[in-house]
Amino acid sequence: MPTERLINALQSYGVRLADSRAGAPSRRGGAGPSDHKAMTIAGRTVMVPVHTESAFDSPFLVRRPDANGVAVIEHDGVVIGRATFPGKPRFYALSTFDGVPYSKIAVLHGRDVLATTVLQTCIRYQSRTKTCQFCSIGQSLAAGRTVAHKSPEQLAEVARAAVLLDGVKHMVMTTGTPNATDRGAAVLCESAFAVKAAVDLPIQAQCEPPDDDRWFGRMKASGIDALGMHLEAVTPEVRARIMPGKASVPLERYQAAFEAAVPVFGRGQVSTYILAGLGDTPEAILAMAERLIAIGVYPFVVPFVPISGTPLESHPTPSPAFMHAILEPLAAMLAGADLRSTDIKAGCGRCGACSALSTYERAGGAA
Ligand code: SF4
Repeated sequence: MPTERLINALQSYGVRLADSRAGAPSRRGGAGPSDHKAMTIAGRTVMVPVHTESAFDSPFLVRRPDANGVAVIEHDGVVIGRATFPGKPRFYALSTFDGVPYSKIAVLHGRDVLATTVLQTCIRYQSRTKTCQFCSIGQSLAAGRTVAHKSPEQLAEVARAAVLLDGVKHMVMTTGTPNATDRGAAVLCESAFAVKAAVDLPIQAQCEPPDDDRWFGRMKASGIDALGMHLEAVTPEVRARIMPGKASVPLERYQAAFEAAVPVFGRGQVSTYILAGLGDTPEAILAMAERLIAIGVYPFVVPFVPISGTPLESHPTPSPAFMHAILEPLAAMLAGADLRSTDIKAGCGRCGACSALSTYERAGGAA
């Protein structure tokens, strides 16, 4: 099976693990790729669901790693590939000067990405009628696995150690939305400024579009190299149903913000995360992707993975065929526009572990 199709299938179904202790610990709940495990397959490190409902019934089984750390992947008992697991990062063993374990400040994503949620609270998360149905930002906070606000000093300390001890290559800073004005841009600026003063590490910041485009210049001046403003869903009906609070910022504002941000950060350095499988058709996602690519925005399309404890925990994941119908033409569109994940300075698009998109890009490039 071609690598991009295998990764696509593993991310859709998830896998059963013969040894759940293999590799770095996986997180349950929280923001980002929760309920996943990082695995390296054919040189690509990807996040594969392991704690979701569909993963428990998956036809894919990853056997216990051998003495060399290599694990066999089986499909209905037939060996179809091999995987290794990135190890537990060394910086997880340390604590900040003020006594907080580093792993509560930031975590390793994929192979070489340091990821943090600067503010673990969100104005959208406070009421069931407003919360994004897929999000579990409050869960890891309630479970004591993280802290509500990571200070600039804490972030700088952890980032420096993660570079020195584990060779991380870029950093993702996301945030819950603290207000309806800057929508997180201000706290991302002070965080990035502190990290950049401590260590030379490319940073992607992620937030909703702020109410004033001047924030983009301030973010860039603070040391933010790339920006993510995440649509999540592309049609107004799906947005209103899945994320009733966040949908109060209309698609038109996203479009205007993208157009203002691209000249500041550069073509291909502004991206958006689109969750496929929440109700948007492949045609709607591809039409949106075409519009975004035309203005220099990288559309990072990811299969939706339900997280335990959220209102969507039993929502099905998209099938491999559904994802293939999006990712193959999308990779061709990106190639045609000369936008490449490998040119992104930092962030989810560059990491690519939550989607098979970059593997499709490579396969298209090779062809
Ligand atoms: S794609 Fe983004 S969310 Fe997924 S593992 Fe990479 S950095 Fe984390």
